[in-house]
Amino acid sequence: MTDAPVRPAPAGPALPLRPELAGLEPYGAPQLDVPVLLNVNENPYAPSEDVVADIAAAVADAARGLNRYPDREALGLRGDLADYLAVESGVRVAPEQVWAANGSNEVMLHLLQAFGGPGRTALSFAPTYSMYPEYARDTSTGWVVGRRAEDFGIDPDEAAALVADVAPSVVLLASPNNPTGTALPTPVLEAVLAAAARVPGGCVVVVDEAYGEFRRRGTPSALALLADHPHLAVSRTMSKAFGLAGARVGYLAGSRALVDALRVVRLPYHLSAVTQATARAALRHAPALMAQVGALRDERDALVAWLRGQDLVAADSDANFVLFGRFADRHAVWQGLLDRGVLVRETGPEGWLRVSVGTPQETAAFRAALVEVAGL
Ligand SMILES: *Cc1c(COP(=O)(O)O)cnc(C)c1O
Repeated sequence: MTDAPVRPAPAGPALPLRPELAGLEPYGAPQLDVPVLLNVNENPYAPSEDVVADIAAAVADAARGLNRYPDREALGLRGDLADYLAVESGVRVAPEQVWAANGSNEVMLHLLQAFGGPGRTALSFAPTYSMYPEYARDTSTGWVVGRRAEDFGIDPDEAAALVADVAPSVVLLASPNNPTGTALPTPVLEAVLAAAARVPGGCVVVVDEAYGEFRRRGTPSALALLADHPHLAVSRTMSKAFGLAGARVGYLAGSRALVDALRVVRLPYHLSAVTQATARAALRHAPALMAQVGALRDERDALVAWLRGQDLVAADSDANFVLFGRFADRHAVWQGLLDRGVLVRETGPEGWLRVSVGTPQETAAFRAALVEVAGL
């Protein structure tokens, strides 16, 4: 399962490739066939047989109507997602305030299609999710990054000053941040929201809570700020906590006006009837899945403690992964782990690696391999 190389252009007329795409490779973490996959922050637990049976029945039902286009507005699914958010975070939004698409990656592309574009700028704070600059590139939106502090936090005053200075039309903030695991404290978000509200022409602040369900107790969700900030969007996904990465379902909550703007740029019938049925069936099992998230959080905290006990540095994490280091030659450590059947991610600042929280058995395999490789 490796990505096919990009073929050299055959002799003949040139393809009118946009110059900014020349020589670029498709983005993606290596998809390697190894026993312990801890590199893309998936939920290590496959859906239970209960969930599988429910999804299969819902998909069979959807199949009976596949001669017709799906419900374009997906309001049933958006209502179910609103109900889920109310239980998960205590914040109630209307179905019309929820937007769903094929993964939160597509949600974010919709945001930049609606609010970015030529002559406009998107702003984020590095190190952060490596897909953000690609959404900007693909929508011809300018891209500017501020720096995170040594502890991967964001200084509220510096962030507000940067927003005022850059005057972006979109600010992208991952919380918990990937690859660092850092959650954004409310005062930082409030400072950015206030600065964004003063940007001439307007500025949308997107908080990407792809890992929101894994936040530690007492860590707030940006959903709590939605009611007072029509220029705020909080994005979530079913790919991580929900264990449904293969289904491709992401969503956001925001003001009705913001969601209505996304409805303008989406492709017609962008969310298939099969996808909608799958997501709705899985959402009926949210309570069982949330219990599993609790177990993964405990496993994460234990992993952070273990790494620190080995004289390594591990960043505080509110997500289902841990950034750890620091290694003089992180690539050698990554390769050594891979040679022992454990795939982690070579990402983040120089010297660090990122490992996803797996099952207890997978985490044990990671620990054993790391002890050997790093000579702990
Ligand atoms: C994994 C991840 C997502 C989720 O992407 P999907 O398209 O929903 O699978 C979004 N944001 C960040 C920061 C992520 O790490």
